[in-house]
Amino acid sequence: MNKATRKAVIAGNWKMNMTPSQAKETVEKTAALVKGKDGCDIVLCVPFVDIASAVEAAKGTNIKIGAQNVHFAESGAYTGEISASMLLETGVEYVIIGHSERRQYFGETDETVNQRTKAALTAGLTVILCVGEVLEERQSNITNEILSMQTKLALAGISTEDMKKVIIAYEPVWAIGTGLTATPQQADEACGLIRSVLADLYDETTAQSTTIQYGGSMNDGNAAELLAKVHVDGGLIGGASLVPEKFDAIVTAAQ
Ligand code: PEP
Repeated sequence: MNKATRKAVIAGNWKMNMTPSQAKETVEKTAALVKGKDGCDIVLCVPFVDIASAVEAAKGTNIKIGAQNVHFAESGAYTGEISASMLLETGVEYVIIGHSERRQYFGETDETVNQRTKAALTAGLTVILCVGEVLEERQSNITNEILSMQTKLALAGISTEDMKKVIIAYEPVWAIGTGLTATPQQADEACGLIRSVLADLYDETTAQSTTIQYGGSMNDGNAAELLAKVHVDGGLIGGASLVPEKFDAIVTAAQ
């Protein structure tokens, strides 16, 4: 396995945008544009309340639907939360876990990221696991240590077999929603570092077969250069995924 044999995954993260009717329209528009572009897997991660209309609109297309978070318990007294089996039954196939906005604003920790990842994998969902350093960590030259620690803690107790359903998204926090993008070389180095951590944790085959995305202000203008890098197997895209034409351009760059 190497870049040529790993299938790229282009995933949109709509964050807290789109009502259910807007979701339907946007999935339909996106589907029309990305039709037949099967050189990568295409995922849209939508707000919980949009899942039903997004899944319906994506039927028969090459778009899969994901959620943006999942709780680690199967059921119980967790007001406002959603379990992995609930997601699965609504037709969700992917779930983002550990997004930096969840870590920054909602108290997500490496431990809960690990618990959520286990719950999602047990239910059969594919996990898009986010890791990334903040600006001060990059400036202090501890990016590698941070990425290594986050990856190891998130994957604690997760088997080699389960890794077949884990995608890792390298998302430098300073590049998310800021318009700042990691250079292709920075993105490649960080994704390569994560791959070497996987080789240590598991084995070389697992490391070489895991999809590692870059995320952080990826757009129609910079995607081709980022996606050309050896360790960058796709993208997790926020802002640009809300605009079907821009998202389609990124999908096209990944073919
Ligand atoms: C994201 O939400 O994961 C993201 C990368 O956002 P943006 O593309 O807007 O920086």
